Parts: sequence; C-alpha cells; structure tokens
Amino acid sequence: MELNPVINLRGLTIHVKEECQERRMLQLKKFPRLKIAVSDCLKGVECRYNGGHAQDDFVKNQLSEYADFVPFCPEAAVIGTPRETIRLVDVKGQVRVLGSKSNTDYTDGLQAYAEERVALIQQRDVDGAVVKSRSPSCGLERIKVYRESGEWFGSSDPMRQGLFTAHLQKTLPYLAVEEEGRLQDAWLRESFVMQVFSAARWREFMGSDPSVADFQAFHRDHKYLLLSKDEALYRQMGPIAAQATTANLHESLLRYSELFHQAIAEKGRRGQMINVLQHIYGYFKKQATAEEKAFFHESLEEFRQGVIPLIAVIKILQNLIHHYGSEYLQTQVFFHPYPAELALRSDTSAYR
Ligand code: SF4
Repeated sequence: MELNPVINLRGLTIHVKEECQERRMLQLKKFPRLKIAVSDCLKGVECRYNGGHAQDDFVKNQLSEYADFVPFCPEAAVIGTPRETIRLVDVKGQVRVLGSKSNTDYTDGLQAYAEERVALIQQRDVDGAVVKSRSPSCGLERIKVYRESGEWFGSSDPMRQGLFTAHLQKTLPYLAVEEEGRLQDAWLRESFVMQVFSAARWREFMGSDPSVADFQAFHRDHKYLLLSKDEALYRQMGPIAAQATTANLHESLLRYSELFHQAIAEKGRRGQMINVLQHIYGYFKKQATAEEKAFFHESLEEFRQGVIPLIAVIKILQNLIHHYGSEYLQTQVFFHPYPAELALRSDTSAYR
C-alpha cells in the first residue's frame, strides 16, 4: 500500500495501525515449529526389549508434521537391544530398577542417562514430551513397584512414574508431558496440543527480543485463550504486562513466563469455555439481530450439553466478527491456537 503524499498526520496514524493489525493477523495464521521430546519406540524405532517398536499413529503421522523431535531411549542406551525386561523394585525402602531375570541393578546407569538427556532436552528448550505408557523408564503414571521377593505390592502399591519421566518432570515441572495412550482421549489430546503450541509461541516470542509494546500486544492477543484456561492467573498476569517498562522488562517477562506456563498447563474446561464464548458474544449483543442472538444462545446451550462441538460455536462468533468487525477480536489467538486441520475442537468430548 502506497502512502498518499498529501496524507495528514491523522491519516498516517490510521495507515500505520492498519499495517500493524495486518501483520499481527498474518502472524496468527503462522504456527511455530514445535520441539517435542519423544520416546524413540513411539517413532517406530526398534528399540524395545524384544527388538520391536511401539509406533504410534499420532506421533508418527500427525505430530511429526508440525514438530522436530528430540528422541530418547534410556534402556537401549544403557542395557542394549534386545535385552531382558526390567522393573521397579522396593529394595529396603528405596525404589531401584532391576533386571527381571538377572536381578542386575541398572538404576545408576539409567539415572545417569536421564540426567544427561534431560539436560539436553532442557537446553533445546522443548515445548512438550510424549512418553511411552507402561514402561518402568518412560511411563507417566501407574508403574508398578514390586517387592524384592518378586511379588507385587497389590492395592497398597502407590504406583509411580518411570525413572526417566520422573526426572524429566522434576527438572521441567511446567513441561507438557503425555503418554501416547492418554493422547487417544480427545480431551487430553486437545489440552496437550493447545499447551505445546502455546509454549512454542512463547519460546519464539522470547527469541524475538521483544519490546514492552510487543509484550503488551502478546498479552492482549492471548486474553481469551488465557481466560479459557485460568481466570485467576490471567488477572495476575495483566498488571505484570501493563506495568512493564524498558527498565523492568527482563524481570517482568520472567514473572509472566512462569504464570503463562502454569495457565496453559490447565486442561480445557467446558464451563470456563462457555464464559469465554459469552464474553466474546458480548461485543455484538447490541448489534446482533434477534435471529443471530437466538442462534448463538441455542448453539451455546447445545455445546453445554455436549451435542455440538466447540468449533460450531466458534464459527458463529467468527461470522459475527466478520459481519460487524472487531479489531480487538481479530487478533485473538483463541480463534487460531493450533493448525485447524488437527480438528481437535470438532470433537464433542474435547471439553469436560
Ligand atoms: S519405552 Fe522408553 S525405554 Fe522402552 S523402548 Fe520405548 S523409549 Fe526405550
């Protein structure tokens, strides 16, 4: 667009604003490339105890479209492939990792591998991790602990995480971590994908040497996404962004980062989502026709009842934005949190 040479100062201001708005809208549709740590066997690598793999369709065929992987396989690296199976055993009150046949204690080697590989994962600044379920190394939960005699503790067993994943979560407490099995659940998958794309956006934003104005724009554009996650955290984040100055920017970004990662770690809740949808609808309630109002409220009720998916209500709101216009809403990440083709908001069970 060329500037009109006789344009006055007021006209110039409008022009620059339009350009800014356009740039932010284009950025919205550009998704960051994800960095995901992953159990190697889920990618199809034959590193399991029996020389097989545990290829996962979501990891191999969907996530790989959007992510670069940082793989790990503690057992292949420490014990080799093929190998005897291992298990967690309570040895005099301490949980150790022992070979099921040989009783060899592999704990120290596996712990050393975990420390080295998690340091690499941290250094690569990954956005999330997908780990293999039911593994004494990689499992996220419900891994059995046995007695030295070989018996299981039974219902008194508190169960726990695999050794590697326990170290990963201890080191990076706000990292999005899911098992491939849990990701079959539409609710957990939507929350995980939302979290990793949000973490990646923050990572890229921090790498862009942001100014105070950039910081405030980031917060503004994430308003409805954050409100849909945790309103109390969103209310704490607002003053940090609003009171940021060139002098305190670094410290403000650090404080904001912690709250941002806490907020995006929350799972999607239907009730909170309904509040956000009503809030957005509020922009148009004076202009909307009686028919538009009735259609929105009917659709919202159907979403509440789990009859229609979230995307159906979002499309109604986008239609209102298109028809009546709203600069503020057009740049909300809430409408484009991850690539639309993942279709995660099209499942009626993606919110609880
Ligand atoms: S579950 Fe973990 S340790 Fe076992 S084969 Fe897969 S990556 Fe390796």
